[in-house]
Amino acid sequence: MIQGNLDVGAFDAFLAAFGDIPVETAPNIVKQKSRDFFWYSPILKQQLEECRGDAVATPRTEADVLRIAALCARHGMPLTVRGAGTGNYGQAVPLQGGLILDMIALDTVGPVIDGIIRVGAGAKLRDIDDVARSRGWELRMFPSTVRTATIGGFVAGGSGGVGSINFGMLSQRGTILGLRVVTLETEPRVIELRGDAVNQVHHAYGTNGIITEIEMTLAPAQNWIEVGVAFGNFRRLAEFCQTLGEADGIAKKLITAVAAPIPGRMRTLPFAVPPDASVGLMMIAGTSLEPFRDLVAAHGGELIYCVSPSEASAARATPIYEFTWNHTTLQMLKVDRDMTYLQTAFPEAGGLDLVVALCRELAGEIFMHLEFVRANGRVVCRGLPLVRYTTAERLAEIIGIFEARGSAVANPHTFILEDGGTKQTDLKQSAFKRAADPFGLLNPGKMRGAPPPLPPYRVG
Ligand SMILES: Cc1cc2nc3c(=O)[nH]c(=O)nc-3n(C[C@H](O)[C@H](O)[C@H](O)COP(=O)(O)OP(=O)(O)OC[C@H]3O[C@@H](n4cnc5c(N)ncnc54)[C@H](O)[C@@H]3O)c2cc1C
Repeated sequence: MIQGNLDVGAFDAFLAAFGDIPVETAPNIVKQKSRDFFWYSPILKQQLEECRGDAVATPRTEADVLRIAALCARHGMPLTVRGAGTGNYGQAVPLQGGLILDMIALDTVGPVIDGIIRVGAGAKLRDIDDVARSRGWELRMFPSTVRTATIGGFVAGGSGGVGSINFGMLSQRGTILGLRVVTLETEPRVIELRGDAVNQVHHAYGTNGIITEIEMTLAPAQNWIEVGVAFGNFRRLAEFCQTLGEADGIAKKLITAVAAPIPGRMRTLPFAVPPDASVGLMMIAGTSLEPFRDLVAAHGGELIYCVSPSEASAARATPIYEFTWNHTTLQMLKVDRDMTYLQTAFPEAGGLDLVVALCRELAGEIFMHLEFVRANGRVVCRGLPLVRYTTAERLAEIIGIFEARGSAVANPHTFILEDGGTKQTDLKQSAFKRAADPFGLLNPGKMRGAPPPLPPYRVG
């Protein structure tokens, strides 16, 4: 049996050189740490189900990371970084075996100075938000997996989420202020990236550096009330969401629109959904509830849920955001295993007309779910429509229909970085990979624009 490019004896010697850094080789643990939420996609499920790493190392400090990086570079060992493994595209799945680097112990949180926080890459987003809130601040945005995901995984694999209605996506200048990144070289370096340079590593799936520390800008903390509004008509709900997004006097953190029949099928939604209703799920500042109620009434909606986070947790209700973003897909998968999803963008002009036209054209096959976000100062909607999956060919046709009608699709059914997002190689990311990972060992197989790996080193 071969691990990385080493035989078993050499692999054991390689691991022995880790000294007191915790290493796990138990097959059940290694299997568990080799997976993420790729199974959302029937296509990725088939491709990635059997992929496994060979061992899991859990560094406790940046010095441990440097030591592991040097060993991997010297022995030609593939290395896949892992946060909490909640990514959706198999980003954290090792395609070529090797070492899994579990970042969970690099979990320092703070200090918070003037609305800026510095954290270890393995820190849980929930813990970071809690510490920030105790100082009067909060994370500008978090994915709906905030209760489990790490900040390093969000920065390396995520894109935005709850809060993007105010601050845009994570790649927007100003939210990620700085990153410390360890290279995979025989003499690894620590590179500090700041400003626009952070996007060389943000959303690169850990293919071009190991992030050890992150500096984020925070927002002033607010008391967010969880609300649900019902509309008999999806278009009217979507128009309400657009108006709410543009209502500058109403403070909000989340605006989600889910078309009937999805809300009625979400089992753990903490309120009853009127028959055939489309539902808006929102987080509104307590100070803005009164004007929010007026806006709902003016648009002919019905306020059907309105609780503070403490009331929700006292009632053991699932937080409202766990029915939004990619949790909407998860909630539907719990009741219908034939569902999958797409990630789409709609143009600013005529976007809602296009949404409605696609719902009509693909009725019975797609079920619309929109997230409203800020993009370059404007409120736009992004789609995470649920799709009834039949075949890979039909899914490709549906993607083609979205694109032909004018909706850009970031395909979530591929683990290749460029194929999932912009559909072109990000030259800055691949140039950074050339410098930071000259042997092509970091999460190999995920970046199409990666330089070809150099011949690996061998033991002995
Ligand atoms: C139900 C559900 C809802 C979701 N909602 C959202 C959402 O609202 N918004 C969103 O953006 N995403 C969302 N996601 C995707 C995912 O949860 C987030 O992107 C999350 O932040 C990933 O964090 P993680 O710690 O689980 O990362 P992982 O899945 O462990 O890793 C993600 C990627 O980052 C790399 N990586 C991890 N840590 C590091 C590091 N320190 N240095 C370098 N590379 C690293 C990994 O190699 C991998 O490529 C959702 C997923 C699910 C299953």
